[in-house]
Amino acid sequence: MNAPPLHGLHHLTAISGDAQENLDFYTGVMGMRLVKKSINQDSPDTYHLFYADAEGSPGTDLTFFPWPDAPPATPGAGKITELSLAIPEGTLPYWRDRLTEHEVAVAPEETRFGRAALPFTDPHGLKAALVEVTEERSFVPWDASPVPADRQVVGLHGVRIWERQLEPTKALLTRVMGFTKQGTEGDWHRFADAEGSSGTIVDVKVVTDRGSGRWGPGGIHHAAWRMADDEEQEQLRSLVEKVGLRPSPQIDRFWFRSVYFREPGGALFELATDGPGFGRDEDLDKLGEKLILPPWMEEKREQIEAGLPNLTHPVTS
Ligand code: ZN
Repeated sequence: MNAPPLHGLHHLTAISGDAQENLDFYTGVMGMRLVKKSINQDSPDTYHLFYADAEGSPGTDLTFFPWPDAPPATPGAGKITELSLAIPEGTLPYWRDRLTEHEVAVAPEETRFGRAALPFTDPHGLKAALVEVTEERSFVPWDASPVPADRQVVGLHGVRIWERQLEPTKALLTRVMGFTKQGTEGDWHRFADAEGSSGTIVDVKVVTDRGSGRWGPGGIHHAAWRMADDEEQEQLRSLVEKVGLRPSPQIDRFWFRSVYFREPGGALFELATDGPGFGRDEDLDKLGEKLILPPWMEEKREQIEAGLPNLTHPVTS
């Protein structure tokens, strides 16, 4: 059986500190739209906040579980250690100024595989980078963003993962998941689609002297990969199982359906269907305003709402 084609990142999920501070930063500074305010379905006393473009287009969605009371994340082998977001070509100076003005910790600009990149650290210690891209992304600007439409984050770009060994992860990516090895730059081995497109990138660095690290605020929980439909997801799920990994059964997340597994080095991957999508239970012009629960949790709404901190939407215009 052949691997289904690689469509790139569906969403990335990270762990933050205080939910309000997370909301203020990703909408008020990064200019992304809160497209869904929900709960962690596996831990309903925790929010699950989804930031994306105006419509939650596939490949634009960065989500957070706020765990303000947990000890901070430590990076380690088998962890996703950085995520990157795509910005339009030529906008990096704007972003450097904007982040600096908001007292965000910004590192010196880098060139990564020919693209300009600006690494920064979010208010809760998350390692991230903005990367200039030239390709067309599936992106709808958000009119109410504090960032002008032609400078907004246009999607997820990629992830960096630390591993103890390269080969097992490389074999999964290239032989099962449809990635192509793009080359090596410094310590980083790049995997992506055949063109090295933004949104499909996994960079792997081998670390032999590190422990496994731990999840916590500032850590990246998982990377989810786009599946066109249930059939493609099942096809890849069975290939993953065949190489000795342990994919979960399909789980209904209401806005999409998911399968989870750990890649050979330990990082958590998800295979998520494109449909039904975030517009399923809210009008596009009201996305993110109300706490949204999957229908099977509605009967506990009052109890769930009482267990969550209040969130105020920042004034973003
Ligand atoms: Zn996920």
